[in-house]
Order: sequence, then structure tokens, then C-alpha cells
Amino acid sequence: MSFKENRDSFPCTICGACCKNIKGIAELASFDLGNGICKYLDKQSNCCRIYANRPEICRVDVIYEKRYAGHYTKEAFYQLNIESCRFLQEKENVAQNLRL
Ligand code: SF4
Repeated sequence: MSFKENRDSFPCTICGACCKNIKGIAELASFDLGNGICKYLDKQSNCCRIYANRPEICRVDVIYEKRYAGHYTKEAFYQLNIESCRFLQEKENVAQNLRL
């Protein structure tokens, strides 16, 4: 399966901001380099080096179905995630063309 075919339907721009802010996420504790940056983030491309095998917590659609479908509509859940992305994109000074 190609990278694109395997992507969630969440409109991720692959900015990498979330991958630089994993501190405090229990499921990703062993991925943290110690500075909040995921050890699998490719700094050159901003892509995940284990994308096809990334944990469920990194898969918006999967985590929605497993944990949040009973609490939010998918649209509302996406919107909450987009707001988190925007906060992190501002914090990381992400290029405008990659912002949500
Ligand atoms: S911060 Fe949002 S847009 Fe950027 S890589 Fe993470 S999920 Fe994708």
C-alpha cells in the first residue's frame, strides 16, 4: 500500500508539528527523544519513518472509532483535532502553506 493510499481522511498537511510535541502522551512515552520530539520523525522530510506501522494514537480515524465515536460526531472530532493542529503549528512556526 502506498503512503497516500494508507492515509487517514483527516486533512493532515504532514507539517510535523504534532510529532514535535508528544511529551505527556502516555502511548508515545517510549517514542520521545526526551525533548518532546518523536524519534521516528524524519527531520528532513517531516514525515513519519514508521507511517504504515504508526501507533493507533497517531491515527485520527482509528482513534476516533475506538475511543470517541460515542462522544463526538466525526466532524466535531476532526474540528477539535484541527484546532490542536493550529495551536501546535503556531507554536512551531509552521510555514503558512502547511497550516490548517
Ligand atoms: S500537526 Fe496536524 S497537520 Fe501537522 S502533522 Fe500533525 S496532524 Fe498533520
